[in-house]
Amino acid sequence: MSFNPANKIQDLQYFGEYGGVNPSISDSSTYTFLSAKTMFDTFEGNADGCYLYSRHTSPSNLYLGEALAAMEGTETANVSASGMGAITPVLLQLCEAGDHIVSSRTIYGGTYAFLKNFTPRLNIETSFVDITKLDVVESAITKNTKVLYCESVSNPLLEVADILALSKLAKKHNLKLVVDNTFSPLSISPAKLGADIVIHSLTKFINGSSDTVGGVVCGTQEFIDQLRNVNDGASMLLGSTMDSLRASSILKNMRTLHIRMKQHSKNAHYLANKFEADGLKTVYPGLESHPSHITFKSMMNIEYGFGGMLTIDVGSLNNANALMELMQHENLGYLAVSLGFYKTLFSAPGSSTSSEIPEEEQIEMGLSDGLIRFSIGLDDDIERTYQTMRKCMEDLNILEPNNRLQETV
Ligand SMILES: *Cc1c(COP(=O)(O)O)cnc(C)c1O
Repeated sequence: MSFNPANKIQDLQYFGEYGGVNPSISDSSTYTFLSAKTMFDTFEGNADGCYLYSRHTSPSNLYLGEALAAMEGTETANVSASGMGAITPVLLQLCEAGDHIVSSRTIYGGTYAFLKNFTPRLNIETSFVDITKLDVVESAITKNTKVLYCESVSNPLLEVADILALSKLAKKHNLKLVVDNTFSPLSISPAKLGADIVIHSLTKFINGSSDTVGGVVCGTQEFIDQLRNVNDGASMLLGSTMDSLRASSILKNMRTLHIRMKQHSKNAHYLANKFEADGLKTVYPGLESHPSHITFKSMMNIEYGFGGMLTIDVGSLNNANALMELMQHENLGYLAVSLGFYKTLFSAPGSSTSSEIPEEEQIEMGLSDGLIRFSIGLDDDIERTYQTMRKCMEDLNILEPNNRLQETV
């Protein structure tokens, strides 16, 4: 295969200042200069390799950024204190008052709230569209549109964006295609498919241990320099800087990302097949029944699978809540938002992570009350997990008795 993101991460070499196999963690907020002239040049952005002040950048943050840029195949990257701390500066850098954004309507609740409630105060308007309908996307573009925004696999409905087609549309209309790839690291490489800017919440799969928030913007050197510009760079001026200690711990976790993603995908695919066979309404991009299964397949780096996220619909919020509480009681995972943890995490998005989206809009986009979103964990014995989940569903009469499992010998 032509692009192997895990190789790109693994092929980077780092040496600590005493020959350590991990780079030293930078422990300074400010940096000395041997000459006053170099300090001036650095402020002007003309002294490559010089550090100025750690809100601008730090050695540890650059190391992590380098690994993420290698993974996404972009020139460079800028890490931030959270995923939202990556998304908001990108949009504010690309748009000014009077500009317009065309965005997928099924996006992360925080991003939706930012575009729906916050950016209109700056006279930046957004049209929310069904991103899977290219004609609808194109007809929403106006002469003021600057950005086409989507998630490669959307939260929480797992809609899949046809990034190649969207990038052609973006080029045709001179827009920047910004893709949030949080749900599908390694599996999908949006920049390789024509995206201009790729964003991640590092909080999720990439860090993978639910112990920190973090984010990244991957893009061209020119765009990342703009974000970091001391005079008018949104990342520099809005100040959502990652701490060096966190950057170094996320970098270390990234080295096992490929192994984790394969296991998340394997387990999620296994459960999705079982749930669907049991007659549950199941959404997983790896299922042939998924409306964008073929699109995902055409874009993916195949060995990492279709990802660790799936949803089932258990009919009502009461069913969803009862099932999640029982599954937690049975130690199948945690009733928690977020994703990418070693344990399975589940939540009902309508009343939690997507509660920023008004109820009538939730209905329109197919976000039903009984929807449970799963981030499937790294369980070594996923058959055992399935049996126990199945038992929970039977006990709550969520599965029909005639679907009752045969005793396994
Ligand atoms: C969690 C998430 C974000 C926001 O990231 P934070 O690290 O929580 O700020 C953005 N996009 C997607 C798809 C997410 O899942």
